[in-house]
Amino acid sequence: MRRLPIYFLIDISESMIGEPIQQVEEGLSTIIQALKTDPNAIETVWVSIIVFAGQAKTIVPLQEIINFYPPKFPIGSGTSLSKGLGHLMFELRKNIVKTTAEKKGDWKPIVFLFTDGVPTDETKTAILEWRQNWQRTSNMVAISFGEETDTNLLSELTENVLHFKNTDATAYKQFFKWVTDSIKTNSVSVENNSTGFELAKLDGETISKINLTKTKHLTPLVDNNFVVLAAKCQNTKRPYLIKYKKRIVSNNLGGLDINTLSYRLVGAFQVDNTYFELSDNSNIDIKVNTEELNGAPTCPCCGNQFAFAVCICGKLHCIGDEEISTCPWCGNQGTYGSGEGGFDVNRTQG
Ligand SMILES: [Zn+2]
Ligand SMILES: [Zn+2]
Repeated sequence: MRRLPIYFLIDISESMIGEPIQQVEEGLSTIIQALKTDPNAIETVWVSIIVFAGQAKTIVPLQEIINFYPPKFPIGSGTSLSKGLGHLMFELRKNIVKTTAEKKGDWKPIVFLFTDGVPTDETKTAILEWRQNWQRTSNMVAISFGEETDTNLLSELTENVLHFKNTDATAYKQFFKWVTDSIKTNSVSVENNSTGFELAKLDGETISKINLTKTKHLTPLVDNNFVVLAAKCQNTKRPYLIKYKKRIVSNNLGGLDINTLSYRLVGAFQVDNTYFELSDNSNIDIKVNTEELNGAPTCPCCGNQFAFAVCICGKLHCIGDEEISTCPWCGNQGTYGSGEGGFDVNRTQG
């Protein structure tokens, strides 16, 4: 039986923390459940999941869906699309069975790329390699989560660039049903020897094709749609992330419209130590002023009231009622008073 390999290449940068990553986790599990009950898919479809942040990693090696169990998704710092692509191409080279004179190889692999942000590193080399070696021999569908993705960059990888309006849980359900239907459609069409690659019908609302216009793209070092701060719990020593989302507020001052940029708290989320493993270690020093940040969370690990104390080492941790606090990053001991005005803190790449 010829295999139809499906690769999910998933952005797990910090901006995905919270609802997006949880929905992706559940979504992939529903996709697999649905495919397990589909007679065509169960015979041909093989699935692999690769994640990328500052580093890339295979969390599910290519396997039959019957043996597939949904993984837990880690989170990392940075959005290295080039490392993600590089890792994907490494997996493709390793796994794809080529057609020979004696034997029919795999069907053209399908890659679903999910990303919600802007790459934080140089992508030219990886994109060129993709175009030269894989663009014709595989089908990629690049899906932008939300509004802020660099879709022009994605269009260099594939003509299938889609926008997913990830507004609520229902939208996610519709989206993952669409992914499932697209996989089912292809598991049938490959068997019928049709050559084309087909996606399930788009509703034009939740999921739509992006009209690509020519604008140049930039490669910033940080994803400016979110501010994410990395912190550690003083009690449990576990890392957690504090996520803020961009908001532009228009004020009318004396007949003049003034737009001010600020960031609103989304929440604080526990992560595990794979966060450090999947992060870009280039130690880029990027700061944000606390005056731009609205809202302060409690510690998601131990429930301490303040998750936002800054040690002299520059790192963040939680504090509670204790007289003397110990920084879980550097071990420094000290007492905290509440600061006046804004101060700069280190932010992550997102
Ligand atoms: Zn804590
Ligand atoms: Zn410290």
